[in-house]
Amino acid sequence: MTSRLRALAAALALLVAAALTGLLFHFNRGDATLSLGPLGSLAGPLAALVLGAFACGMATIWLTSAARRLTRGALALRGQRRRRLRDGAQRLRDEGIERLWSGQTTAAARLLERAVERRPDDLEAVLALVDALAGLGDTARAQRVLDDTRTTLGPLPRLLARIGDLHAAQGNTGAAIEDYREALHRLPASPHLLERTATLLAAGGRAEDAIELARRRLAAEPQGPRRESAREQWLALRYRALQSAPDGPETRAALARIVNEFPGFTPAVLALVDHMIRSGDPRGAERILDQAARRSPNGAILERLREMAVTSPEAAIRRLRGIASRSGGGVSKLVLARALAAAGQVAEAATELAGVERSNQLAPEHDLVAGEIALARGDAAAAAHEFQRAADGSHRAFAHRCAGCGRSETSWRADCECGRCDSYDWVAAPGGNAGAPASK
Ligand SMILES: [Zn+2]
Repeated sequence: MTSRLRALAAALALLVAAALTGLLFHFNRGDATLSLGPLGSLAGPLAALVLGAFACGMATIWLTSAARRLTRGALALRGQRRRRLRDGAQRLRDEGIERLWSGQTTAAARLLERAVERRPDDLEAVLALVDALAGLGDTARAQRVLDDTRTTLGPLPRLLARIGDLHAAQGNTGAAIEDYREALHRLPASPHLLERTATLLAAGGRAEDAIELARRRLAAEPQGPRRESAREQWLALRYRALQSAPDGPETRAALARIVNEFPGFTPAVLALVDHMIRSGDPRGAERILDQAARRSPNGAILERLREMAVTSPEAAIRRLRGIASRSGGGVSKLVLARALAAAGQVAEAATELAGVERSNQLAPEHDLVAGEIALARGDAAAAAHEFQRAADGSHRAFAHRCAGCGRSETSWRADCECGRCDSYDWVAAPGGNAGAPASK
């Protein structure tokens, strides 16, 4: 409605009201008395009394709406103030987290402390503050912040997990396990909680529970690298539990189960082979090694087969030859050449070695095998030359490298200090067996 129309309507309404008021006075000329009970009474023209009552009603309506408008205004002001406070706390938190990431831990702790003071229910700010305090070594204060937040927000899984981490960092594995168990109780399918709880249980010597949780994690983890890591954790826990189990048919059956399920998991293959040799079944052990080598001719398994050549050189060489001709890989041919050289079949060893390209990746191992063949032939000068090429002046051992952290060892290992299992391989063979035991 335009303003002119609105003015016209108002004028019309005023005219109608004036006419009605005139008519009211015209037809009600006499006086009337309005009794107000104990307050007395009002006397006057009836029309005036009626109009007065109307006016009182209008005034009440106007006052009520004015009061409502005032309340609404005050509430909006309070909301604005709260929003401003929240925005301020958020800015403090964001800046604090940025400082934390850039290594300015003290400044970060100060900012985050202020953020948490303003908004104690901001979990992000609380967790960042705990990180900062832990980084400063003030675990007691970090613990207090976490306890306070737990009182405010209740037992949230992320909060419980952080409390557990703090306990674990203080060496209190038992308390950490309890915290994680409580978090897991609230989020039973969380792969992260399952992984961490399994690790803590294993560290606390509760292998069976750890394996069960690792199994649940594997079931909860979708496809992709996280699933591979879940499988690795599950296998590693099962393998480590068996490592400390006493020799016997049960342990052997459990190892055989892992090998059947995951034939490419080298630690279980080698542990089963050791077990079989200890229990007087070298033929069975050789069969297991042979099967494993055919599936994945990796250095650790092939070297183990070669070592068996000491007890029955011909059989081991025959197996290695079969594997080398089938796989065609440089690693299997190098191991075959070593076995032949050790058995005194120098010419055949040289022929095998000649069939391996001295690529960048295999060059050091290629030279070492050449040195071993020269030694077997009695050619000390050639051996020294090859060994020098391989190791800059000294006959170094064959290297085993961890695909996880790159650590180098002179002998194969099932477990690495970095926590990985089945990550070592002889030579840096392409596509080494890092963390993907089932893909082979
Ligand atoms: Zn490692």
